[in-house]
Amino acid sequence: MSALGFKGTGSILLFCFFMANTTVWATPILSDAQTRYLQQRGKVTYCIDPDWLPFEALSEHGKHTGISAEYMALLQKMLPVPLQLHPTSDWPASLQAAKDRHCDLLTLAMPTPSRLDYLNFSKAYLAVPNVVVTTKDKAFIRSVADIPALSPVGIRAGFGTLELYQQRYPQLQLVPFHDYEQGLLQVQAGNLFGMLGNMGSISFSLQQNSITNLKIAGRLPEDTQLSMACRNDEPILLEIFDILLAEISPEQKQLINNHWLAVRYDQGFDYELFWQMLVAFVLLMSIISISYLKLKKLNLALIEANRRLEQLSQHDPLTGLYNRQYFEPRVQQALALCQRQQLPLTLAMMDLDHFKRINDKLGHNFGDQCLKDFAALCQSQFQRKDDLLVRYGGEEFILVSVGCDAETMQKLLQDFLQRLEAHQVQLNKQQGHCTVSIGWYCDIPPSDMDSESLIELADRALYQAKDAGRNCLVRSTLARSFKPDC
Ligand code: GH3
Ligand code: MG
Ligand code: MG
Repeated sequence: MSALGFKGTGSILLFCFFMANTTVWATPILSDAQTRYLQQRGKVTYCIDPDWLPFEALSEHGKHTGISAEYMALLQKMLPVPLQLHPTSDWPASLQAAKDRHCDLLTLAMPTPSRLDYLNFSKAYLAVPNVVVTTKDKAFIRSVADIPALSPVGIRAGFGTLELYQQRYPQLQLVPFHDYEQGLLQVQAGNLFGMLGNMGSISFSLQQNSITNLKIAGRLPEDTQLSMACRNDEPILLEIFDILLAEISPEQKQLINNHWLAVRYDQGFDYELFWQMLVAFVLLMSIISISYLKLKKLNLALIEANRRLEQLSQHDPLTGLYNRQYFEPRVQQALALCQRQQLPLTLAMMDLDHFKRINDKLGHNFGDQCLKDFAALCQSQFQRKDDLLVRYGGEEFILVSVGCDAETMQKLLQDFLQRLEAHQVQLNKQQGHCTVSIGWYCDIPPSDMDSESLIELADRALYQAKDAGRNCLVRSTLARSFKPDC
């Protein structure tokens, strides 16, 4: 039996007695003296607040329910005598019953100076945060100092919290209410700044009354520390209940709390902080957007500048055709492609006839206009995707075309000569005509041909066209020269 930890033969007898009764179980925790004291009493009576859920209440059937009921059930398992509820009509009546010694215990009470006259308080076994409930538009409350001065604040009457808050915060305009619902309705109506109370009761009341337009706006510094209060004329009672309460494990306490206090608690939606963050966010986004737009504008300007630079570096400013610098690598590419793919390659060297005379007769500006008109006619005549038109020198132009057979090209060039001859150049009131001589190569280029010899062939044919009287075509191949086509 000693393994069971019982102290003395008295305990053994008690154990046998209570095992026989089976409803109660003698504890190994209490001393002999404590057990004997309880045994002599035969029972321990207690009072509760009959209307204080989730902490405690009397059910419709007069049954003790709530957090304290679960604690009492655990304590009962450790006690050798029954715990007996002494029902009362309300909390003040419970306090009075304790004062009059009609009950030995109050299950959940806060130590206050006035209560110490007739009660001893155990170590606190339940700590409940104190909160303040406001309408949703109010800012987050971090401390009592955040409650505006002269603003009435509701609080539950008859509880220890009222006595303590009156002492600690004399600046608060506390308005006592007999139940939470009344106070919360006044907050809703805008007659109170807020309602103070413990989180359990407040949340319970908000849920019970389906009040959804209020919020828990903040947690106040001190938690409500709830103890068991024992009659102080029998101090051994306090010893016993302190021992028994210490036996309840944190896990057991957590289970009870989870069961009754699983309520949503607004950890403090700080509207002030929210707006500050929002303004900061909007500012940041604006700065980012402005910077992005500026950067985008700069990038576009840079792209445009690069495009113009590229245009300038590749094009002849007077005619808009490609320049010689652009031409050289392209003709090499075209030549390599035709050699590789065995495609016909055309290179036509075009030189305006007696251009010096035109300049001399009609002026340099008119000459410029001839060059522009010539380029425009060229572009309209040679429109294949890969056709390359280049201003090669002063009044010399080159056409490079890939894949076009000689017969088709001959027709195109011949047609071009006629169009140019028929074209009337006009500048201011001056009018004139110009013609062109063309030396051209069109064939599948042999593999050993390079761009220089290709240009030279076309150039030689051009001289032949000039010699043949101008305004005509001469085709050249590597092997033979053709008769002029004037
Ligand atoms: P040919 O029929 O033998 O080619 O005679 P041509 O007068 O055209 O040849 P030449 O080489 O003697 O003269 C070319 C002229 O082209 C000389 C030059 O002033 C003129 N020229 C070159 N570039 C430009 C230009 O950009 N604008 C103008 N208006 N004239 C130019
Ligand atoms: Mg020339
Ligand atoms: Mg010329």
